[in-house]
Amino acid sequence: MVKKQNIVIVEDEDAIRRAIVDALRISGYHAVEAADGVTGLREARRGGVDLVLLDLLLPQMDGFEVLEELRVTHPALPVIILTARGSEDDRVRGLRGGADDYVVKPFSARELLARVEAVLRRSPERTTPVVRITAGEMTVDCARREILRPGGERVPLSEMETDILQRLAAHAGRAVSREELLASVWGLRDGGVETRAIDMHITRLRQKLSGGEAEPAVEWIVTVRGKGYMLGPDLALVTDPQTTEGKS
Ligand code: CA
Repeated sequence: MVKKQNIVIVEDEDAIRRAIVDALRISGYHAVEAADGVTGLREARRGGVDLVLLDLLLPQMDGFEVLEELRVTHPALPVIILTARGSEDDRVRGLRGGADDYVVKPFSARELLARVEAVLRRSPERTTPVVRITAGEMTVDCARREILRPGGERVPLSEMETDILQRLAAHAGRAVSREELLASVWGLRDGGVETRAIDMHITRLRQKLSGGEAEPAVEWIVTVRGKGYMLGPDLALVTDPQTTEGKS
């Protein structure tokens, strides 16, 4: 069975929110509701969220603030903003703030669902996962969860270590914040586990990935001050297109 996709609906008007929730559930999505910005941000940051529908005029924290905060920890999470008719400034501001698309109120369920499907289809989070990462003679096999060292030695990786590496690989070229790693790898709300736990896992990963004296030093995981962690620039990533197509 295909896993239901999780959509968070942040909308303070009860009638609109319920209509959206109904339409999404009928279409086979799992819908989570939030009636204000603070709750919406918290729900959006939970692990496993696939898309956020975000109203702009909200109590406690408006949609622009939610989007800004969300982009710090979840730069790639798809967000569709719900805007009022005629407010072109809001649409432009929302898209500049990192929204993926917008729907103008009042909208039909059909229109909304079409936008949701389109955004989910092109979501970068759903691109082919990286299955192998190599640097020189050393390879990380994400599927087997192990490091292949030069000379044939295999070092096992934990599920969490593999998840961290795959997450960093999915965003190669930019830093991934500790909060984002926490939310995506652990699937926890903010504050559930200290972000220091991430640092400990990174330290252990680096130890496992160090080539020893015989190997030239390759930087597998770079610390970006104030931002988080990034995969090293000299690594080669291999993706397996069959994985996303669901073939075995
Ligand atoms: Ca509103």
